[in-house]
Amino acid sequence: MPELPEVETIRIGLKSLIVGKTISKVNLINPTSFVNSQMEIDQFLIGSKVIDVQRRAKVLLIKLNNQHILMTHLKMTGQLVFDSLDSHFGAGHPNDSLIGQLPDKSTRVYLTFNDHSKLYFNDQRKFGWIKLYPIDQIDQIPFMNKLGPEPLAKDFTWQKLKERLLIRPKSYIKPVLIDQSIVAGIGNIYADETLWMARVNPNTRVNQLTDTNIKQIFESLRSVLMLSLEKGGSTDRNYVNAQGQKGSYLDFANVYGRQGMPCLRCGKPIIKIKLAGRGTHYCRYCQKIVRQK
Ligand SMILES: [Zn+2]
Repeated sequence: MPELPEVETIRIGLKSLIVGKTISKVNLINPTSFVNSQMEIDQFLIGSKVIDVQRRAKVLLIKLNNQHILMTHLKMTGQLVFDSLDSHFGAGHPNDSLIGQLPDKSTRVYLTFNDHSKLYFNDQRKFGWIKLYPIDQIDQIPFMNKLGPEPLAKDFTWQKLKERLLIRPKSYIKPVLIDQSIVAGIGNIYADETLWMARVNPNTRVNQLTDTNIKQIFESLRSVLMLSLEKGGSTDRNYVNAQGQKGSYLDFANVYGRQGMPCLRCGKPIIKIKLAGRGTHYCRYCQKIVRQK
């Protein structure tokens, strides 16, 4: 699943492509991927103009000029492809759609804009979705109002992180970091990278972390996410950005996917374990389990 940097990379690309365009037609191929009624589509989508593309956690919010928002979750295999006479840009999971004719068998819905350009939502495994919401209802959607704060927000501080982590005091830090209700947008890759950089063992319980540990986790998390944004996200599942370039973050990863290879800090081998059901990479020599006295 794309994490914060991948979805943010898609957001930036899409924003540059679709803001200012008016939706003139909606082709609904798989109704479960787009659950709104035809009446809602006719009334609120057709004729509306895209005024912004925003992101919350791993969800894209395409803001329209009529107080409505098109929410999109790409999940595992979702892909957004923009196609016009002079440009063909894909973002998300790769399949032949990025180079082939659209719509294809993975296309679930597509929008046609007033200049005849199109935005395709493709999703092989159909876990992703698009849904139209009135803007004032967004905060009431259970999925949205359960989300923790954005880790890159200006008002997110180490104290705020501490407060969030302590909601699950007895849990191991790794599963808490990827819990979307604690902090939004962090998945497996960035949690492993953050804990390596912070020298914290993923098997440490939250209530054992010192303030110094939490400050290190906070600083590490921000720098890991910022680096990934700069590199256009990770190539783990071959996400490509709106310009068709793959993100290169994993070339800079210190621990994720490096099991058996020497730790870049101490030279001892990185190990991979299962922790709360997720593959977890770390160095057991320089990431110590913290036990407060
Ligand atoms: Zn090490």
